[in-house]
Amino acid sequence: MQEAQNSNFPSALEIVTNGLDAHPASEGLLFLKAYFGYKVADTMSSELTTYPRVIQPIGNGALMIDGAMTSKMLGKFQEIVNTLSEAEEAINELLQVNPKSDKVVEFKGYIDQKRQQLDKESETMRATFSKSPQLAGSFCLGCQKSISYDTQKVVFRRSSDSRLEAWHIGCFQSTAKN
Ligand SMILES: [Zn+2]
Repeated sequence: MQEAQNSNFPSALEIVTNGLDAHPASEGLLFLKAYFGYKVADTMSSELTTYPRVIQPIGNGALMIDGAMTSKMLGKFQEIVNTLSEAEEAINELLQVNPKSDKVVEFKGYIDQKRQQLDKESETMRATFSKSPQLAGSFCLGCQKSISYDTQKVVFRRSSDSRLEAWHIGCFQSTAKN
């Protein structure tokens, strides 16, 4: 508990998990495992807000999408979902022992909600990757070379006849200067 008071959730989680190896059915430890797991996931997702924005409007209706950063965020989302899944496993075990605990049911609700939110956000990001080549083609309008949407910074813009154009950020910027 001392560890938890210091907000050191990852090591608190480890201590509780080790405790569960010795006392597998301890309700108190199961609850703490779920709680610390949730806090670890929560801390990880607040860290995501310090990431640079993966989609930025850059003026004149153009949007810049940072593919490498988006891929990195998707990886981070997966880590958080895995941590939440472990917390949920502990909660499910608790519910078997104590199916009527309001506190536990409510907490399971929090975890589910958080997971749904992450699923929705990662789905949006994945859709951006998978739809981009269909909507804007696989080639940069500037240099005519291929675009790798999940590793490069790409600019999207509507053409005057309202097709979606894609550019490498560098190609877009050098055209804008001329
Ligand atoms: Zn290019």
